[in-house]
Amino acid sequence: MKALVYHGPGNISWEEKPTPVIRDPSDAVVRITKTTICGTDLHILKGDVPEVTNGRILGHEGVGIVEETGSAVTEFKKGDHVIISCITSCGKCAYCRRGMYSHCENGGWVLGHLIDGTQAEYTRIPYADTSLYHIPPHADEEALVMLSDILPTGHEIGVINGCVKPGDTIAIVGAGPVGMAALLTAQFYSPAIIYMIDVDENRLAFAKKLGATHTINSAKEDAVKRIMSETKDGVDVSIEAVGIPDTFDICQNIVRPGGHLANVGVHGKKVELQIQELWIKNITITTGLVNTNTTPMLLKTVTSGKLKPSKLITHHFNLNKILEAYNVFGNASKENAMKVIIEP
Ligand SMILES: [Zn+2]
Ligand SMILES: [Zn+2]
Repeated sequence: MKALVYHGPGNISWEEKPTPVIRDPSDAVVRITKTTICGTDLHILKGDVPEVTNGRILGHEGVGIVEETGSAVTEFKKGDHVIISCITSCGKCAYCRRGMYSHCENGGWVLGHLIDGTQAEYTRIPYADTSLYHIPPHADEEALVMLSDILPTGHEIGVINGCVKPGDTIAIVGAGPVGMAALLTAQFYSPAIIYMIDVDENRLAFAKKLGATHTINSAKEDAVKRIMSETKDGVDVSIEAVGIPDTFDICQNIVRPGGHLANVGVHGKKVELQIQELWIKNITITTGLVNTNTTPMLLKTVTSGKLKPSKLITHHFNLNKILEAYNVFGNASKENAMKVIIEP
């Protein structure tokens, strides 16, 4: 089969690899029908994730058709249409029993990281029974690619950890795919005011279309000053969806006493925690890696049409043009790209 293979920082290629086979009885092999590229893949490509070794097939998102199942798989069979979760969970270890699938002792985020991933014609999914989701008939397959990672990430680590409530004033810093996923899913809980903060005018305009009530271009104005002047004492919830010190800083400077700062961004550098200002404010700071325990709920909202994540899709590529897709996604601002769909 063909696959997108990592060969060290800055070096990926589209090449021939052996088609995966069942290794353990709980495995399934899935033929990929749609996949995508994540910001995390760009981090890997930059060399920020040294656990990813030479020869690894990248990708942790996608949908497909079950090609083969191991003898222990009971919930899926050949021909089933499935969503692949970015988090692999065994369902049995102590972390899985707590619902913290991200820290599964036998899985967690392994796809396209510690084992071969989804940017290929076929992929092997360990613990298929607890790591795949059935796609209902007539569902919009493209929209469901957003359920592998970005929607549950924005929802669980941004919105749920941030405790967004009806009437809240919230601010999302970072209008990339995960920030947009937080924007879409925050609206389940009816916040009154949603600020979107970014440095890209196109993305801010897009955020308005997706439900942001206010936008701030932090390259052109002081986001902290503006929010503190427009709110009495700051926002109820600030959601960090970038992963750099500057954006974390905005978040810690705009949260009101008793509010929540939910960090979603993947940080590669330390940040300065202003604990001398924050200690007295009774705020809650949360971090996390997605558990995907809300995926079944999100799947219902997408199939019913209540949530429309297909709005985030800006580009389509054939799987054998995946290097081109990396180029476009890697220059998202110039290319006006949000999520790209890649299909054979
Ligand atoms: Zn991802
Ligand atoms: Zn587990």
